[in-house]
Amino acid sequence: MRDATTSALLSAIAARRDDLVALTRDLIRIPTLNPPGRNYRAICEYLANRLERSGFGVDLIRAEGALGDSAAHPRWNLVAHRDGARPGDCVHFNSHHDVVEAGHGWTRDPFAAELEGERIYGRGACDMKGGLAASIIAAEAFIAACPDYRGAIEISATADEESGGFGGVAHLAEQGWFAPERVQHVIIPEPLHKERICLGHRGVWWAEIETSGRIAHGSMPFLGDCAIRHMGAVLAEIEAALLPLLATKRTAMPVIPEGARQSTLNINSVHGGAREQEQDYTGLPAACVPDRCRIVIDRRYLIEEDLAEVKGEISALLNRIKAERPGFDYEIRDLFEVRPSMTEKDAPIVRTTARAIKTVLGRQAAYVVSPGTYDQKHIDRIGRLKNCIAYGPGILELAHQPDEWIGIGDMLDSAMVMALVLSQLLAH
Ligand SMILES: [Zn+2]
Repeated sequence: MRDATTSALLSAIAARRDDLVALTRDLIRIPTLNPPGRNYRAICEYLANRLERSGFGVDLIRAEGALGDSAAHPRWNLVAHRDGARPGDCVHFNSHHDVVEAGHGWTRDPFAAELEGERIYGRGACDMKGGLAASIIAAEAFIAACPDYRGAIEISATADEESGGFGGVAHLAEQGWFAPERVQHVIIPEPLHKERICLGHRGVWWAEIETSGRIAHGSMPFLGDCAIRHMGAVLAEIEAALLPLLATKRTAMPVIPEGARQSTLNINSVHGGAREQEQDYTGLPAACVPDRCRIVIDRRYLIEEDLAEVKGEISALLNRIKAERPGFDYEIRDLFEVRPSMTEKDAPIVRTTARAIKTVLGRQAAYVVSPGTYDQKHIDRIGRLKNCIAYGPGILELAHQPDEWIGIGDMLDSAMVMALVLSQLLAH
């Protein structure tokens, strides 16, 4: 199974262990918090220095004017490109460099990148600075082992994945960076686990529903019309009719975890009635009948479903209530939508990665689909590039949690898989 070239490449990665650890720790120590989007320029410059030393030409690209971009928090992205000795395909590794807030419950400093045994701890360790570091080590080891490769290798570090990716991959895709004429294979090293190939994600629809009423004195509620009670009717109908229906909609997409292998709906927020007062307000609320109530719904849908049909379910539900409930009226606003995305199992990047997993880990790859979306949506929709997967080290459940960590052995294994992918696609 392993020829001499493969064995040499895998040993070369194992020999870079200290470098991989140091690189991962350096990346974690740059707190690229999003929101609001801190230190994006700093992490891009750090990576530019590193990759220039390895022979990459680098572009630092600001997503000027994109959602989230401002003078205080510019959205910086890095694309590093290294041509081989002759023409061929371009293999692109895309990682987001932003991390979510640390949150509560940490037993360590989230930005100290503490090393303990086989683990590196820190915000972003698994999501996804460990994956970014693994892809860099993989590329550097492959280039050293096979300097006259064909085609090109690209590594990008992009902004704002945690807030929709508009100042990151979406912007780059709009500028043509992911056009199929220039990039043929994409791996996104998100923490899906080193044995799994993630083919895509379910679809998303967020909407805001507002019910209206009439304000009146709270001692005479019959003179007003309570918007919160109207919303209560909406919530009751979602509970009684919609959620059971969604539970019956199963998908052939191999979504993990198992519970997400169906349509789901989350009530993201509810706002209504008197505004919450400032912390320094010590008085009581005023007695009023609320005239407005709003909820935000987060509907995740399947490749078998149609977005118009998904929206139709909600409008049918609201119209049903309207027909039966005196005084009921509503408005609905679309907030956000993403189509489901799923790369074919026989796409070249999928087949190549599966072979590499078999060689490195001695096991068959598992094919999965992510319950939530990630930057593949922009590469697919805007970039029109279908040959894209997520593959990287780490345990998905640790993402966004306190005491997030990445295993060094996992990073090394997945770096080996990524290097073998390069070797299969680009070695002469
Ligand atoms: Zn991520």
